[in-house]
Amino acid sequence: MINFLDLPKQYRLIKKDVDNSIKDILENGSFIGGSYVSSFEKEFAKYCSAEHCVGVANGTDALEISIEALNFKKGSEIIVPANSFISSAEAVTRQGHKVVFADVNLYNYTLDADDVRRRITKKTSAIIAVHLYGHPCDMNAIKKIANEFNLKIIEDCAQAHGAEFEGERIGSIGDIGCFSFYPGKNLGAYGDGGAIVTNDDELAKKTRMIANHGRIAKYDHVFEGRNSRLDSIQAAVLLCKLKYIEEWTDRRINIANRYLNEIKNKNQITLPKISHNVRCVFHLFVLRNNNRKKFIEYLNTNNISNGIHYPIALPKLEAFKYLNQHDEHMNANNEDKNLVSIPMGEHLTDDEVTYIIEKINDYPQK
Ligand SMILES: *Cc1c(COP(=O)(O)O)cnc(C)c1O
Repeated sequence: MINFLDLPKQYRLIKKDVDNSIKDILENGSFIGGSYVSSFEKEFAKYCSAEHCVGVANGTDALEISIEALNFKKGSEIIVPANSFISSAEAVTRQGHKVVFADVNLYNYTLDADDVRRRITKKTSAIIAVHLYGHPCDMNAIKKIANEFNLKIIEDCAQAHGAEFEGERIGSIGDIGCFSFYPGKNLGAYGDGGAIVTNDDELAKKTRMIANHGRIAKYDHVFEGRNSRLDSIQAAVLLCKLKYIEEWTDRRINIANRYLNEIKNKNQITLPKISHNVRCVFHLFVLRNNNRKKFIEYLNTNNISNGIHYPIALPKLEAFKYLNQHDEHMNANNEDKNLVSIPMGEHLTDDEVTYIIEKINDYPQK
């Protein structure tokens, strides 16, 4: 089977470095805070070309804490793409605000700016720009709308470490950026982890305080916060991996370019279209086939692992039925039947990529 993801293979490459760091932490006993966390925050801010980075416990918390720090009026509406992982929407409702779903385009599956514009009301206070599958949203269009209606932009960067829009690293193009280091993400820890990046000094201070019980010093709590920390072992693992992330990302891009150039079976397969002004980091490589069940059976028979991201558009999820926003006309509400993710990652060998391309090209024509 060609693996969708191969974390043990990646570990073998960085084993010495990772083992030494973890051993150091075990011997020193500094599991929370300390130099690994502060070094990682410094390095990751630099990697994102952002002024500040605040480590938190996971990507969902990064979103929730960012929304809390932005201090929206109770009952504000926040626009979220209808095709994403549930966290992008959950963070909004958990903070007591209302999710308003907007559609995604059929080229790269990120927010459709025209549809965002249609969904704005007097209560709208922010847009969650999800750089889905590693492809940056059209930040020019989104910034234009945000300026016009005085909205905040929260970037959900959980799938897009190192992605760029017109040469700028994503994360601090909007007001605040939220990252996940879930193990399977492009930059993944060995457990849960997340980070917030921003160029705004006040937001950096506020998010750090929220994540750490609202305190400015030990036992001096200014407001009620919560506990959401990136722990030292995860920070140490991330620091080791940060040395390789560019190489691994370039490898992803190289594989994606081969898929884009060499998959010729256009009668069956719709490939994504990558905007000319972005660096897409291909967290996933997602294509469309309108007889997905049969296509997936074919991939399985040929030992090509695959996935569906995501099989149920957010407005249709049981969890969001109460919002009553299932809209038949949305791309997201129709195309969730057709999306298929094929293997992507630095673990793939050239021969495996060639094999995947050949098999997809051999898929019987309609
Ligand atoms: C993974 C993911 C998250 C949440 O990250 P966790 O670290 O798992 O909480 C949020 N948004 C998107 C788009 C994701 O893919």
